[in-house]
Amino acid sequence: MRPVLLFDLDETLYPERDYVLSGFAAVAERLAHDYNLDPIAAYTDMVRRLDAEGRGAIFDGVLMGAGVEPSPERVRGLVETYREHRPAIAFYPGVESMLRRLRQDYALAVVTDGLALMQRRKVEALGVPELVDTVVLCDECGAAKPDPAGFRIAHDRLGGGPALVVGDNPGHDMAAAAALCLPAVRVLSGRFAATATPPQWPAVEISGLDELEPLIARLLPPQGARP
Ligand SMILES: [Mg+2]
Repeated sequence: MRPVLLFDLDETLYPERDYVLSGFAAVAERLAHDYNLDPIAAYTDMVRRLDAEGRGAIFDGVLMGAGVEPSPERVRGLVETYREHRPAIAFYPGVESMLRRLRQDYALAVVTDGLALMQRRKVEALGVPELVDTVVLCDECGAAKPDPAGFRIAHDRLGGGPALVVGDNPGHDMAAAAALCLPAVRVLSGRFAATATPPQWPAVEISGLDELEPLIARLLPPQGARP
């Protein structure tokens, strides 16, 4: 039985901001089509609002900024476009080849949080199913992180042997790993990079995935390498 590596997806294996920007591009196209807005100006406005105000009321803002009443129905339509769009996203450099190498010695899973519709589209766009042994969408299990159910299901599917969690979000991935008494590696990438790892959810920290393979070889040696 191969030891198991349980990977988070967003911000761990690809930059989530690229997903958000790709969603904005789809929304800008719809705004051009439905309201005759300039798609580039609408896209630029959404990015500016994201950086200034964060997520939350971006679509209300872009409609209002263009002089269109942001009715709940209109905003809902834009949210649907965003969630249903086919994302133009790519792994962080080197991730695909790293997963191919790791899979020779480890069973691999991706365990991802968020709306199943959106996560499925991300997984498909990145080609995740061809690179790992199983994918778990936590939303489909009715157990959003930090509920460890998604990680537990993936771990069980892959035989339940020695395992390691790799993620970026201490409150989600490291908390779930701790609940399952599994060791964790935290990649300091993306939105949570500056957040400290709380002592109750310990993790070995790395600054990028290029540090992961040698670390895994030490923390969870492949079977043949064990004494
Ligand atoms: Mg993440």
